[in-house]
Amino acid sequence: MKDLTRCVVNPPVPAEGFDSLAVPVHRGSTIRFATSREYQSRGERGHAGYSYGLYGTPTTRTLEAKLTALEHGAWTVLLPSGQAANSFAMLPFLSAGDRVLIADSAYPPVRDFADRDLARLGIEAGYYDPTDVADLERRIDGRTRLVWCESPGSTTMEVQDLPAIAAVARRHGALVGCDNSWATPLNFKPLDHGADLVTEALTKYVGGHSDLLMGSLTVRDEALIPPIRGCLGRYGIGVSPDDASLVLRGLETLGVRMRHAAEGAAALAWRLSAHPMVRQVLYPPLAHSPGHDLWKRDFAGASGVFGVVFTDAAAPHVLPALDVLRTFAIGASWGGTRSLMAPMPIKRHRTARPWGGADLVLRISVGLEDPSDLLDDVAALLDEVSARTGRAAADA
Ligand SMILES: *Cc1c(COP(=O)(O)O)cnc(C)c1O
Repeated sequence: MKDLTRCVVNPPVPAEGFDSLAVPVHRGSTIRFATSREYQSRGERGHAGYSYGLYGTPTTRTLEAKLTALEHGAWTVLLPSGQAANSFAMLPFLSAGDRVLIADSAYPPVRDFADRDLARLGIEAGYYDPTDVADLERRIDGRTRLVWCESPGSTTMEVQDLPAIAAVARRHGALVGCDNSWATPLNFKPLDHGADLVTEALTKYVGGHSDLLMGSLTVRDEALIPPIRGCLGRYGIGVSPDDASLVLRGLETLGVRMRHAAEGAAALAWRLSAHPMVRQVLYPPLAHSPGHDLWKRDFAGASGVFGVVFTDAAAPHVLPALDVLRTFAIGASWGGTRSLMAPMPIKRHRTARPWGGADLVLRISVGLEDPSDLLDDVAALLDEVSARTGRAAADA
């Protein structure tokens, strides 16, 4: 073998005896076939086999298998973001003339995808009240192929009655999909409660360190795999094995991180709900939060993300008051090690269940800092909101 050839051909190195606890990163586009016959018949390898890097490597398959087991599903595919997981939970199952019914509290980009891209394909999107199964029942019809849930809902945190929703959908021959990013499969398993498809924004808690973007889509039934796999292949959607290995690392500490975040969130939620400038804290573990009883019935725990609704007088002063924060960072996304606050508009994203409160909900994601530093920050924020609200009242 000449040197230039040696440069590109890998010598055989035994992997035997190297039983690392870490999942190796397998990079690859080309998969080598031992014989022409194997290459010729590669299409018969199915979704579990290897034929091209885009369709999976041992690294991504390891993450998919872990998620499949945690979700109690049949198979999982990884996508480049949580939003991609939501889009590709819908696309393979909808055709021109079909309808999809989406919870009014869904992640806003899901609405945007439905209203623009699905509409362009002749698929009609409708929205239903996430807290009212009778409202879904009134809106669903024979053209509805998919009912989309997100429980609890983005920012406003409504917990949905998934078993009741799934029963309505099944009577009409519709699939049920659920975005489970808040709970993660540790705290809720939508497939056990009637969903056919479940998505996770692995970007958030599972990755857990604000350093990657990824999503997962897990199906309950093997029959749902080929339409999804085929669609992903045609659109050319795959993920980096390096990112998958970071998600695998994050997954190992998911349980302890979530428990710490939930404890910190509970302390902050209590502090905030006692303040006169706060109208309501939207956090399923709190008794007055929408769907609290359903959360108690169906969920094994909470994460550290919640929403804060201020009084109408205080709400306009929340945004500028955020500049007093020292430990919290101002920013979108959530589920990482750093605690975050982000002011979210709600009204423009609600049509089936109009939002009555001030058009700002402060979304708080509690991270892994010492909760006492976070409580100090919240106290300073509330003082600043109170001072600004008081000054505005005096000027009026
Ligand atoms: C952030 C988020 C997503 C999207 O995740 P990305 O990886 O950022 O695309 C989907 N669903 C919910 C509920 C989210 O909060």
